[in-house]
Amino acid sequence: MAENNQQAEQLDVLASTQSVIKKALDKLGYPDEMYELMKEPIRMLTVRIPVRMDDGSTQIFTGFRAQHNDSVGPTKGGVRFHPNVTEKEVKALSIWMSLKAGIVDLPYGGGKGGIICDPREMSFRELERVSRGYVRAISQIVGPTKDIPAPDVFTNSQIMAWMLDEYSRIREFDSPGFITGKPLVLGGSHGRESATAKGVTICIREAAKRKGIDLEGARVVIQGFGNAGSFLAKFMHDAGALVVGISDAYGGLYDPEGLDIDYLLDRRDSFGTVTKLFKDTISNQELLELDCDILVPAAIENQITEANAHQIKASIVVEAANGPTTMEATRILTEREILLVPDVLASAGGVTVSYFEWVQNNQGYYWTEEEVEGKLEHVMVGSFDNIYKLSRTRKVDMRLAAYMIGVRKMAEASRFRGWV
Ligand code: GLU
Repeated sequence: MAENNQQAEQLDVLASTQSVIKKALDKLGYPDEMYELMKEPIRMLTVRIPVRMDDGSTQIFTGFRAQHNDSVGPTKGGVRFHPNVTEKEVKALSIWMSLKAGIVDLPYGGGKGGIICDPREMSFRELERVSRGYVRAISQIVGPTKDIPAPDVFTNSQIMAWMLDEYSRIREFDSPGFITGKPLVLGGSHGRESATAKGVTICIREAAKRKGIDLEGARVVIQGFGNAGSFLAKFMHDAGALVVGISDAYGGLYDPEGLDIDYLLDRRDSFGTVTKLFKDTISNQELLELDCDILVPAAIENQITEANAHQIKASIVVEAANGPTTMEATRILTEREILLVPDVLASAGGVTVSYFEWVQNNQGYYWTEEEVEGKLEHVMVGSFDNIYKLSRTRKVDMRLAAYMIGVRKMAEASRFRGWV
């Protein structure tokens, strides 16, 4: 029983992120009050969204919006549509957004939203109604200078467009900076769609350099074929790496000679499902334990745990998903000298280009794809380097180093404001 509780605690993403925040603040010498402020979002809204379904019935969906800390600037972060969304998860995700903003030095705090629903089971029009209903329900607490939503798991530029349109109707002015990840024609940015994967690619390249691994011919396994996973497979393939394994929610594909990425990209559906087309599949657990050089969990939380951390064969693990590795597994991987690039660094490319999108909206002046990519490269390389160096000088793992850098600005800003 006690063991079960311990396991449940480890899989509790909020409790585990709080424990690392505590360690980071202790290392930086902040008092307990600072931890009390940071351990939960400053604002958390739960909403009930009535939606008329296509068959004429009404379904009530539950949604959340968490705003972690707005001492540095407006809060920022995506909205996920998923049947397993919980209040705790959204809180943890908002804390991670604060950390990402701190790591890549954006003038934001973290926010996050979620709706408990399964978009795979909903029609286009039902999705539109749920998206618009959510914006109506949270409209009081969001806005271009308050809290700026964006895409996340199972949401995309079309959903951002509906949300923008609904917000503009409520506020009676067109405010493209209310949301990021928009289609280009509505004020989106070049390079936003592939930004998370671009950031992950830069982290993989930097980590490979530190480990003396040549990307040309390196064997890569990617769990998840959604936005991050699919673009990443393409970028790795283009860089000359061998993508030997990929997976979706239903299973994985493995080929030691390298998978045909172009074919798979062509056949995936908009939710990143592709393995259903194949007979010869492996499980997601088997996928994580494949023989490879670089492993990228790019799906959901709690995939690498103490149950499989000893079986991981990669020498580099780069977290493209939010929270894929438990704290106990982090300890095991670090002890095994596997270089773990934590989520709050590896997946920060998305919010970085979201920031670029917001800046372009505010200026009304738009950048080329090359400009966006050049700026993203600069931010990611610098952030990787800072965290890597801090982890070496303070002899802490990469996750703790990332948290230390991630909380620092927010803690300072909260102190200057006289909150703590
Ligand atoms: N949902 C993405 C993340 O978890 C992007 C958030 C944003 O662009 O604001 O980082």
